[in-house]
Amino acid sequence: MKNNYLNMLYGVIFLGLTGCLHTDINNPDRAISAKLQQKALNSTLAYELVESLTVEVGPRLAGSEQDLIAVEWAENKLNNLGFDKVYKEAVQVPVWHRGEAKASITSPYAQPLVITALGGSISTPKEGIEANIIRFNSLTELQQASSADVHGKIVFIDHVTERHKTGKGYGKSVGGRSKGAIAAAQKGAVAIMIRSIGTDHDRMAHTGMMRYQEGVNKIPAAAMSNPDADLINAMLKRSKNIKIKLQLSAENQGFATSYNVIAEVTGSTKPDEIVLISAHLDSWDEGTGAIDDGAGVAIVTAAGKLIQDLPVKPARTVRVVLYAAEEVGLIGGKTYAKAHQAELSQHYIAAESDFGAGRIYQIDFRASQQGYEELTKLSQPMITNGVVMGNNKASGGPDVSMLPSMGVPVASLRQDGSDYFDYHHTPNDTLDKIEPAALQQNVAAYAQFAYLMAQSNIELRPIVAK
Ligand SMILES: [Zn+2]
Repeated sequence: MKNNYLNMLYGVIFLGLTGCLHTDINNPDRAISAKLQQKALNSTLAYELVESLTVEVGPRLAGSEQDLIAVEWAENKLNNLGFDKVYKEAVQVPVWHRGEAKASITSPYAQPLVITALGGSISTPKEGIEANIIRFNSLTELQQASSADVHGKIVFIDHVTERHKTGKGYGKSVGGRSKGAIAAAQKGAVAIMIRSIGTDHDRMAHTGMMRYQEGVNKIPAAAMSNPDADLINAMLKRSKNIKIKLQLSAENQGFATSYNVIAEVTGSTKPDEIVLISAHLDSWDEGTGAIDDGAGVAIVTAAGKLIQDLPVKPARTVRVVLYAAEEVGLIGGKTYAKAHQAELSQHYIAAESDFGAGRIYQIDFRASQQGYEELTKLSQPMITNGVVMGNNKASGGPDVSMLPSMGVPVASLRQDGSDYFDYHHTPNDTLDKIEPAALQQNVAAYAQFAYLMAQSNIELRPIVAK
């Protein structure tokens, strides 16, 4: 009895001691991480950056004049912040001109619709296209429809985007935007108009990229506001004979050169090994690109700056990448992966912030199983900032999503995206949607993440299969 009691007591003392090894007193990384958190929560740098980007540069559609002004803005900011290295790498990006977008119901009565052209769409003839509309619940339903029903009509995909903290509703409905024009054209449709991929009920349409397919007829593609989609849906319940007129003057204008803009804090002992934190610099042209992705640009830049200012730099290099042309097909991310192929084995881990400025509540990784388990212990200091440990199934964010297939570990710092798709890709993506305190919490999480990863001794490879 007494022995058991003593064993238990020793056990408690032992656990206490090993616990101590992970406390601030004995672990300098933990102490520095705590300091980074505190500094981030008191810093206004990120907000100043996103304010500057949205006010001084504004919308920066890939391949536009403003896109190049954004590149110059980023280079200037990163240089002024005193990063060890600042450079840019050329990216060939498609140039698309939005033009005008107009639509109205013409039968049973005249009613203008609030629409936007989808990125990459061709124009209609100048006089527009007028045709009956045919409604589908989803892309899948359209793909299963008979060509006889669709031929000569304007396809209407009426897929409602569900609101979720994780943003998973977007993944379910976005296929109609990206692939709808192909499926519709294959069945002889003359145009496609989708319900906006958005969770708001404002009379505002959400743009976003669409694709054509080699060998399939190209048809004009637009999105309408959610209330307009509701109206058409209700009209179709009364009569199948609903006519719409659509006029787009959008135009694809070839290619231009843009740039991935990169800054580095050079590692003190393993400078060739890289911890990559990133965001995308381009935006859609309807708002000022505050939440998508001015916020991400501000978050990772401010996090990198906090590490740059440490008296002793971490072991690995922290690389801040501001990607070009994410919106039009992850072009900056793909170009980076190709250009840095030889160096990818030296990328310790990569992450991208591209989901607005909602608070980060969880961190997911994609590493080896053993590495993941050790990472969740190493990342414990993030818990005091509200970030709990998640799973080993991260994708890392759009521009780094191709890296795991090349063996590179990634992390996803999960933000609360409950209202992200209310504003995403609309004229309402503006600075006022960013809560300064939430932005600071993001910076704290990225600074802690980047620092802990740059100091980590954990082996993360080979990463688990998907
Ligand atoms: Zn984005």
